[in-house]
Amino acid sequence: MKNINSYLNYIQELYTLNQMDIYPKNNHPDEIKVVNMIETLIGEYSLEFYTNKIMIVRKAPYSRAWPLLTLTTHYRGKYFLGEVKNRHWLLSLLVHENLHWMNVVGSKYGENKKLNKCVDELEEGFPETSKMEGGVEHLPIFYNQFNILKKIVSSRELKMIFSLSNTPYPDLMKFFFANYKEIGKIVKKWGCIEKRMV
Ligand SMILES: [Zn+2]
Repeated sequence: MKNINSYLNYIQELYTLNQMDIYPKNNHPDEIKVVNMIETLIGEYSLEFYTNKIMIVRKAPYSRAWPLLTLTTHYRGKYFLGEVKNRHWLLSLLVHENLHWMNVVGSKYGENKKLNKCVDELEEGFPETSKMEGGVEHLPIFYNQFNILKKIVSSRELKMIFSLSNTPYPDLMKFFFANYKEIGKIVKKWGCIEKRMV
């Protein structure tokens, strides 16, 4: 994709499972297992994405959204299908990275004006978050991620997914739950509720 307009046209389309291209970077068996696991999750929960490409990379240091949704097979050195048997954790990661597409468009190119204003207001209201790892732009992501997952996983799973030891941003996550209602009001006010995924 050469420019932002072709990118925006591209993400305006919603993709269903049979149009999704989920592929292992190096055809390693760990990657192939995660590909299969993701296909099952997408089908089971009818998830829709901003992108139609997801690449799986064995032991990538972290998962990321941009420019290609890339998921690692391991989290903190643990393999999703080995030590971490919980597929809902992978589901959460998938939802999180997809939500970043909304975020990246807003913060990097200024195209998502509502989200920019939402983040500005969150920053004004919660200046302490600027010092926290993850940054204020993660607050709308957490809000959407939590509410999407709340609809589809059990409360026990939800607790596990959002436990502070399982997040790369424990301080910000703690802050998020302590200020959940206020954050939600601002996210809703600017219409930044993600409805595509479930
Ligand atoms: Zn993130």
